[in-house]
Amino acid sequence: MGSYPSSLIRLYSHFIYRNDRMRNQSFLKHHLMTFKDLGLQDNLLKAVSEKGYTKPSVIQEKAIPLVLKGKDLLASAQTGTGKTAGFTLPMLQLLAATKHPKYRPIRALILTPTRELAAQIQENIIAYSKYVDVRSTVIFGGVKADPQIAQIRKGIDILVATPGRLLDLENQGKLSLKRVEFLVLDEADRMLDMGFQRDINKILALLPTKRQNLLFSATFSKEIKKLAGAFLSHPEMVAAAPENSTVDKIIQKAYRTDKSKKTNLIIKLISDGNWQQVLVFTRTKHGANRLTKKMQAKGIQAAAIHGNKSQAARTKALKGFKDGSVRVLVATDIAARGLDIPLLPHVINFELPNISEDYVHRIGRTGRAGANGEAISLVSSDEISYLKSIEKLLKKSLKMAVIEGFEPSEIIPDNEKPKTKEQKAEDIRQRQQQRKNRLARRGNQNSKSSNRTKNKRR
Ligand code: AMP
Repeated sequence: MGSYPSSLIRLYSHFIYRNDRMRNQSFLKHHLMTFKDLGLQDNLLKAVSEKGYTKPSVIQEKAIPLVLKGKDLLASAQTGTGKTAGFTLPMLQLLAATKHPKYRPIRALILTPTRELAAQIQENIIAYSKYVDVRSTVIFGGVKADPQIAQIRKGIDILVATPGRLLDLENQGKLSLKRVEFLVLDEADRMLDMGFQRDINKILALLPTKRQNLLFSATFSKEIKKLAGAFLSHPEMVAAAPENSTVDKIIQKAYRTDKSKKTNLIIKLISDGNWQQVLVFTRTKHGANRLTKKMQAKGIQAAAIHGNKSQAARTKALKGFKDGSVRVLVATDIAARGLDIPLLPHVINFELPNISEDYVHRIGRTGRAGANGEAISLVSSDEISYLKSIEKLLKKSLKMAVIEGFEPSEIIPDNEKPKTKEQKAEDIRQRQQQRKNRLARRGNQNSKSSNRTKNKRR
């Protein structure tokens, strides 16, 4: 953990996922304001009330008036804070108030790192824009481009997009960004983590210089600050209220066991507890697939969600999980990021994450209104160093227990020892290398996709 300054860690733990905090009192605490007080007009108020929102969330209360005034924003808020309405509602009001050319060029661009987040944002925009004359659509990779192109051709005001597909269609001349007045960069930190920096730069170069910019991020690393400095003009800073109590409300348990015993242990926990909606995290895509198959073989309805799955499979899995037909959703960290999964009673770390902050994100998925959630970690000997890093971040030790029949027999004493300076330096080096590899892969993909485009033109 030596690589993370403590201020960043504190900030990070404040902005934990609370995907359904609407039903959670703390989401709305200190709120005496109404949506009307924020300056929103009746056609938007009607849509908001039909969505069942009674009071604005913290980020909405802070962001909406500033966006209506035309300000640039640098906002710290995660999925679950109500940020989508925070930027969409005022944007809809401003777009509806200005005349658009008859052919309806794209006037607002919302960039997101993942397909799921893009689809979710679009769903929300449809609901919020029910009574205003503003059209929107969403584009992302992994599905056919033709229907997306057809939608854009009809004329739209707001485009929600992931960077890759956006650049692809722009390269092909299927869309123009020359009339964009609003740019929203959502989950900017994750976009940089996923290696989208170059794509973002390319996209910025395609936009008119005069526009309103909103940047949302959970963390403010040097890179994010640099990005913000590059394209925000005199931004206002807004933050969702820190919620220190979040982690405390979650009951965290850890079971020591062997790697080879984890599958049977997790099946036992889910079956004995008769848990009906469980989110399980694995470190790798293959691990997620393997575990899903083993659970299915034991008659537990399970589905995996990760980057290698087709968009249709991901949507289906998420839908099934929400409607109860899928009992266990097995996810990797990146796939779960940004998903609007309701808060759950149980989250299980089948494997501990090697990045400690991911642990905080994962367990933030649990907890329900008025009830405590339970986050369970299965810890094998090779994960002791991850556990130590997590405990350091949380500033407390996790309660360890052993379940009869699943006692650990693997002994790797070296891992139990605190890491040496050299080992820590090696960890940092490896993380940097992984990041470099990701960026390089991303670069390769970009050049491949532009070659494809060139070939198509030929
Ligand atoms: P977001 O952080 O934008 O992904 O929103 C998370 C969830 O909160 C979504 O399901 C929204 O529909 C819901 N939501 C947003 N604003 C409010 C509000 N003011 N009151 C109740 N629910 C809300």
